Amino acid sequence: MPLPPHTHTTQPPLQDRFGRQVTYVRLSITDRCDLRCVYCMHEDMRFLPRNQLLTLEETARLGRCFSELGVTRFRITGGEPLMRRNALWLFEQLGAQPGIEDLSLTTNGTQLARFAQSLKDAGVTRVNISLDSLQPQRFRRITRLGDIGKTLSGIEAAMRAGFRRIKLNAVILKHRNHDEVLDLTGFAIERGLDISFIEEMPLGLIGEHDRAEAFYPSDAIRAQLESRFELVPTIESTGGPSKYYRIVGEETRVGFISPHSHNFCADCNRVRVTAEGRLLLCLGQAYSADLRRSLRAHPTDDQRVKEAMVAAMDLKPRGHAFELGGTPVLVRHMNMTGG
Ligand code: SAM
Ligand code: SF4
Repeated sequence: MPLPPHTHTTQPPLQDRFGRQVTYVRLSITDRCDLRCVYCMHEDMRFLPRNQLLTLEETARLGRCFSELGVTRFRITGGEPLMRRNALWLFEQLGAQPGIEDLSLTTNGTQLARFAQSLKDAGVTRVNISLDSLQPQRFRRITRLGDIGKTLSGIEAAMRAGFRRIKLNAVILKHRNHDEVLDLTGFAIERGLDISFIEEMPLGLIGEHDRAEAFYPSDAIRAQLESRFELVPTIESTGGPSKYYRIVGEETRVGFISPHSHNFCADCNRVRVTAEGRLLLCLGQAYSADLRRSLRAHPTDDQRVKEAMVAAMDLKPRGHAFELGGTPVLVRHMNMTGG
């Protein structure tokens, strides 16, 4: 039966069984990447055939449908989103969509020197840039293919372009980069950037290290930081799962994304769409709905696509099920979902 048209006086249209309203969508626009970070990908990754990906027009259509259902924030991610040809066109479309308050990007920064200003002009408000090490050789080992110079130039270009916020993301692994927590934070402070430290999540088989052995908890990172800085918890939120602290006397906020040590599910307001158009209701669980099928079955009828989105809300689980040493979510790597 068709759903009644949404009005804001009734139950919010994208509300799940636990009363959480979805206002934030992460769209992955490619599973490909120019890097092969050890925690994210296997060295020999097979990528999706191109015809299985949503076209950028289809992704823009999803953006329009979501925003008509009350979504106000989008983050574009991947894989490496800036590796997708014509990605800028999508940013322009979403940036011009009425009702969007926040359009952001997660990137490894390698292409930012080229694109930062155009992204800003297209309406991108915030950029997250992954940076796990400041040491060129170590950066190369963690990313397998990366040249730190490109990422650092990307960060500078983003700073020049004047985004509302720039945040660095660092996945911290024991014995790989846990000794760089203070240096990375110092780098962020010198530039007035935010930084989030991320616990590794068990998504996909990666081959290179045992995830349980490499686990480095957020509490240990915080203890390192507190040896040098005074941290004050803040209730500010960027709509994501980070818990934020302010560093007293500095612009920089430090975030911790801690799926293992601190459960962040209770106020989860987000869903994700993979590059193939699968709507994922939770990063750590396999529940999903096939939006590509709805898009292609109803090429001119947005209402049917919106119905599929609303119906999928019932699949959103109460929380993720990450377990150290437990079975990884084998069905996908992080480059499928975009973090
Ligand atoms: N390529 C872009 C980048 O690296 O920023 C965007 C996609 S990447 C999958 C998004 C974020 O997920 C990055 O900050 C990356 O460090 C993080 N990430 C990747 N695999 C992860 C894992 N297994 N656990 C936790 N974070 C992960
Ligand atoms: Fe690529 Fe980002 Fe995954 Fe690294 S974390 S391999 S940059 S998608």
